[in-house]
Amino acid sequence: MTLRRFSSKVAALAPSSTIAVARAARQLAASGADVVDFGLGEPDFATPDFVGRAGAAAIEAGKTKYTDVAGDPALRDAIAEKYRREQGSECRRENVLVTAGAKQAVFNACATLFQEGDEVALFSPYWVSFPEMVRLSGAEPLFLECDFEGGWPVRSKALEAAAGPRTRGVVVNSPNNPTGAVAAADEVVRIADWCARHDAYLIFDETYDRFLYDGRRHVSAASLAAPRDRIIVTGAASKTYAMTGWRLGWAVGPPDVIAAMAAYQSHSTSNASSISQAAVLAALQDRERTERSVGEMLAEYARRREAMLGALERIAGIRAVQPEGAFYAFARVSGLFAAKGVSGSKQFCDRLLSEAHVAAVPGDAFGEDTCARFSFATSVDRIDEGMRRLAEWAAR
Ligand code: PMP
Repeated sequence: MTLRRFSSKVAALAPSSTIAVARAARQLAASGADVVDFGLGEPDFATPDFVGRAGAAAIEAGKTKYTDVAGDPALRDAIAEKYRREQGSECRRENVLVTAGAKQAVFNACATLFQEGDEVALFSPYWVSFPEMVRLSGAEPLFLECDFEGGWPVRSKALEAAAGPRTRGVVVNSPNNPTGAVAAADEVVRIADWCARHDAYLIFDETYDRFLYDGRRHVSAASLAAPRDRIIVTGAASKTYAMTGWRLGWAVGPPDVIAAMAAYQSHSTSNASSISQAAVLAALQDRERTERSVGEMLAEYARRREAMLGALERIAGIRAVQPEGAFYAFARVSGLFAAKGVSGSKQFCDRLLSEAHVAAVPGDAFGEDTCARFSFATSVDRIDEGMRRLAEWAAR
């Protein structure tokens, strides 16, 4: 077979470890093994019934045509209204772009704002796709290390110390995937101020904004009083309404940036699915039912978090900090590397899967090879079973 040539950008892409874990777990399960899957990055809940039915009604009503590239005006208005109500921000239709998931929102922002020669700061541990999105824009990631102690907090000092004249952007993800860390208000303010002073952009990914624990409050960059003409906030229906497969997210930002992102999107995917847009519009309009379903999911995630963290903390060789938000435990497992004869998180997770039939994602996918990510978006029974196996395997 002739060797195929791929574009240099694609040839340089790092393969997705999260997808590799999912594939390996699926293969093992297909061979008949009972796999406890903590690799999952999505809610195990069903999309709320009233939201699903709004999607079905859209099909029946023939809402199956193109919408405006930037989204159905009614949905853009509803998202703008949500930001005015929740963040007190001056958000209007022209501040909103509807995308096929939050992933596309971040991707379009990077493609629109960054280019060769630029540097974009990412707090590490980071969500797997951020570095690749930055690289695909032509820019280079600048990694800012967060500390395990204290729960991986985002610190503006790290940005101030490392940034240089080429730093054109900063990505903050709060609550964070994989660490669950929630960015403190004063740090978000300082990072936004730094961006304003240095002609740079803050991309603020709040995909998990509804899932915080112990009464912690989410601070959105959209709520800042500071100049917001350099802030792009990205959000998603995926986790809030348990609708990952519907592919619906958004970006909120200055009208000229939103228009440029829409122009970029007009030549790639055009509008997000008209059916998904109708379903999310229903979710935004029926606040009572939405709040009820989010409240139920959050209460269940909180129970699962307690079950998983309680168990992790009892395993010798593993250290875990309580995630403040999202639905992942990002635990330090390097204390077991020597005993297990493994050299890093990838080998650790491979062995855990093949010997204990427990799937977790290696920390190196998120820039932290001493750790592994255990998702608690699964039932308490499965968490108990998986943690029992992990403890037994660790002690073996
Ligand atoms: N940002 C973060 C931090 C995420 O974890 C995810 C989903 N794993 C996304 C964005 C993408 O979400 P969506 O499914 O809406 O594209």
